[in-house]
Amino acid sequence: QDTYDLIIIGAGPIGLACGIEARKAGLRYLIIEKGCLVNSLYHYPLNMTFFSTSDRLEIGGVPFVSHQPKPNRAESLEYFRRVATSWNLNVHLYEEVLSVTHSPDGHHHTVTTPKAQYNTQALVLALGFYDRPYLLNVPGEELPKVRHYYDEPHPYFAQKIVVVGAANSAVDVALETWRKGAEVTMVIRENGIRDSVKYWVKPDIENRIQEGSIKVYFRSTVKAITPTAVQIATPEGEVLVENDFVLAMTGYEPPFAFMHDMGIAFQDDGFRTPVYNEETMETNVPNLYLAGVVCGGLKTNKWFIENSRVHADMIMAHILKTKKAAR
Ligand code: FAD
Repeated sequence: QDTYDLIIIGAGPIGLACGIEARKAGLRYLIIEKGCLVNSLYHYPLNMTFFSTSDRLEIGGVPFVSHQPKPNRAESLEYFRRVATSWNLNVHLYEEVLSVTHSPDGHHHTVTTPKAQYNTQALVLALGFYDRPYLLNVPGEELPKVRHYYDEPHPYFAQKIVVVGAANSAVDVALETWRKGAEVTMVIRENGIRDSVKYWVKPDIENRIQEGSIKVYFRSTVKAITPTAVQIATPEGEVLVENDFVLAMTGYEPPFAFMHDMGIAFQDDGFRTPVYNEETMETNVPNLYLAGVVCGGLKTNKWFIENSRVHADMIMAHILKTKKAAR
């Protein structure tokens, strides 16, 4: 079995930031990623533009140059590949961590993947939340026409689509598919488009709704999906709309069961926020840290790259302090 000072699970932007700090500190470290490098970013919509300017996405002092102030997906992939090579980061890709167990004294961890077992003193979970869609839990959700990820508009040309949700992803999908020839109906639980929608996009969607180009059912929910229709509960009663595709842009959730199985406790705050020390990022399990967007529990808009890059420095400061104290 290989033994490390630090293992980081997840090669997203924040996992990479943790790897850079470990490298700077001269630790024996490894980043383990179940997919490709920055797997979540790779799965974003092809035409997406970040809401952050490129300088705010930088890690490890590597400059992020983009053609526009806000970079697009392709530029971000180029950037993070460059970060990984500049820092010569030790990353194992396409290796999913299946389980984590702790030594009886709770101070060491064993990480198991289909390929190997690793021992480590400290462990960082930089797991993100983009792997698990928040399901509608309605009959018909398993149909192939129901999608929880969106890549590009072309497949939806001349199709009747229902977009569920009122946040950034739903709005982007509704506008982009409508502009490429889809007939779009939105189903929204709330009274309106969310205030968190990008300020330069909100008027666009509101105007399209007002002029009737995009149809919307507010205060409404999807009840059932069939191969040819969607049943919607509205304040005026149930309606059945003809439908070819459902794009359920209802958000994503962190891997709660995986975290629970390794002993992490959660707050009873309605968001299942994991328990961790806000100064050190250490969880209730000794030497087990959280980094990046996973820290927010169901509040998936609380943390992003810009405000969680700093987790890497906080964690490393604590690891080094703990190591020094143990000497
Ligand atoms: P992630 O990037 O999600 O990385 C987690 C990694 O862990 C993934 O690669 C995943 O494959 C891996 N993983 C999970 N489980 C395992 C396992 N068991 N074993 C091995 N690997 C595992 N943020 C911004 O700051 N600015 C933006 O403009 C912005 N735009 C966004 C647009 C969209 C459409 C979305 C969905 C999000 C956006 N975000 C933005 C949020 C952004 O996704 C996150 O801030 C960023 O990805 C967080 O990085 P992370 O490293 O914490 O998590």
